[in-house]
Amino acid sequence: MIRTHDAGSLRAEHAGHEVTLAGWVARRRDHGGVAFVDLRDSSGVVQVVVRDEEVAHPLRSEFCLRVVGEVSARPAGNANPALPTGDVEVVARPGRDGVEVLSESAALPFPVEEHHATPVGEEVRLAHRYLDLRRPEMARAIRLRAQVTRTIRERMGAHDFLDVETPYLTRSTPEGARDFLVPVRLQPGHWYALPQSPQLFKQLLMVAGVERYYQIARCFRDEDFRADRQPEFTQLDVELSFADTEDVVALTEDVLVAVWREVLGHEVGTPIPRMTYAEAMRRFGTDRPDLRFGCELVDVTAYFADTPFRVFRGPGSSPEGQGAPSADDWYVGGVVMPGGASQPRKQLDGWQEWASSRGAKGLAYVLVHDDGTLGGPIAKNLSEAEREGLAAETGARPGDCVFFGAGRRAEARALLAATRLEVGERCGLVDHTRWAFVWVVEAPMFEPVQLADGGTGWTAVHHPFTAPTAEYAADFEQRPGEALSQAYDIVLNGSEIGGGSIRIHRSEMQQRVFDVIGLSRAEADSQFGFLLDAFEYGPPPHGGIALGLDRLCALLAGVDSIRDVIAFPKTASGGDQLTGAPSPITPAQRRDAGVDAPPER
Ligand code: ASP
Repeated sequence: MIRTHDAGSLRAEHAGHEVTLAGWVARRRDHGGVAFVDLRDSSGVVQVVVRDEEVAHPLRSEFCLRVVGEVSARPAGNANPALPTGDVEVVARPGRDGVEVLSESAALPFPVEEHHATPVGEEVRLAHRYLDLRRPEMARAIRLRAQVTRTIRERMGAHDFLDVETPYLTRSTPEGARDFLVPVRLQPGHWYALPQSPQLFKQLLMVAGVERYYQIARCFRDEDFRADRQPEFTQLDVELSFADTEDVVALTEDVLVAVWREVLGHEVGTPIPRMTYAEAMRRFGTDRPDLRFGCELVDVTAYFADTPFRVFRGPGSSPEGQGAPSADDWYVGGVVMPGGASQPRKQLDGWQEWASSRGAKGLAYVLVHDDGTLGGPIAKNLSEAEREGLAAETGARPGDCVFFGAGRRAEARALLAATRLEVGERCGLVDHTRWAFVWVVEAPMFEPVQLADGGTGWTAVHHPFTAPTAEYAADFEQRPGEALSQAYDIVLNGSEIGGGSIRIHRSEMQQRVFDVIGLSRAEADSQFGFLLDAFEYGPPPHGGIALGLDRLCALLAGVDSIRDVIAFPKTASGGDQLTGAPSPITPAQRRDAGVDAPPER
């Protein structure tokens, strides 16, 4: 037997027992003739006392050891309450019997312990991920993630869901990103695509009568690099037959409640509140509202309809030339920053820089002085009546600052949504102990897209298999800009952690959606003809959802980056520091893989 006990399991009741441990030297301190070695294994750390100087001398950080010794209560006053094993220590037997070096460690590229004392660049950590993962906080994140997936499997099993695997080598799937492609050696010029999600397969499983499917599935999307995006990521993917939104919502809430209870001991209140997409956009300027604080957007479009201030006055009925927003699309909104009137000039200039770094022209503001009069550069451009009524209109109090966004509705709201979050953080309004879940439902079915020929067309907001709400089922093609879908997103503290929809299960309606997004029958057939064919054979009504497991775990672990909850993540630029992937291939590999095969005609 290599060991009898886990290091982190020893307690006062083990005093007097002889134990054999195995693990790594986390820390070593010498005290004239006695060395204290913190021995770490996956269960935790215990202090080992090595009285034999000759044995202690060669021990270095991260050596792998086997220790035989007796557990003893620490001398009075020496207990370490910060450590679960802090009441005891293990006194190693004298000589090599007591401490055996199982393997030595080379000099470390960065300290594994006391990481906080010496911040280490992420690239180095990722290049030596096996050392990085020895650090207790990383080990904790990996454990947390396993606890999450265990709980998910337990709940899904309890609801009779079947875990079904779907292929990784497949055809293009319709989540709207670019595919990663895999050449096929035996059929030069032919390529597999890695799935962007198991969407089509889970719908096929519904046609197959599986009724309740789930999978903890890897998804691959070749998108532009962004700080916290991974080219491969994991979803809890779910699909149910004979289900409506209520069924999917109830199941998802059950899983979320179980995960939060199991991992954090926190009770998530249910039902989780719901908000329509339109309400989320109106109140928060985003479909991912952070409900941990107020400072909601105030629509002042009508208030400023006739303002002398040109920047706030809409285009009216005569748009000012090409590219100007239409009267319909014009929006002026505000966000109140409590206490913001006392910001020094420099800080107010800082806001302008912040806004331009986000691509906005600037961030107009007025300051509400203690006597109720308005200050700031634009105040004098407003009419007297506007100045007088503005505080009441926006809910600002003396001492506050009001920021404004004006322009196309989507852009102005996006700027104000970001301003609101920034105000929330800068003013300390965000309660970081809260878990604010919200369902955002009834997203639009379509959004406009610029077509290659310069015209505008429509694209599906979720994906083209999403069903319209009953209200739009008969005539969504006549008003694609208004049509709402039976889609739902689950949002937590301003992050979207999942989304899904009730699907279209009739080919006639599916075809109408394809018509709106300009997908010809031939194109639809070539891309997912197999799904449309399957829908010829009695498809059941169905719907589903996918939860982003990486983000979910990052939120639970309280870390900013999803990389911290992925054992072997890639950097923000898609590289794997550890293996050096992606890497060039040899001419022979190229030939073999058929990468250069002439395109088929
Ligand atoms: N397949 C969708 C996605 O990955 C989720 C769903 O509709 O179930 O976003």
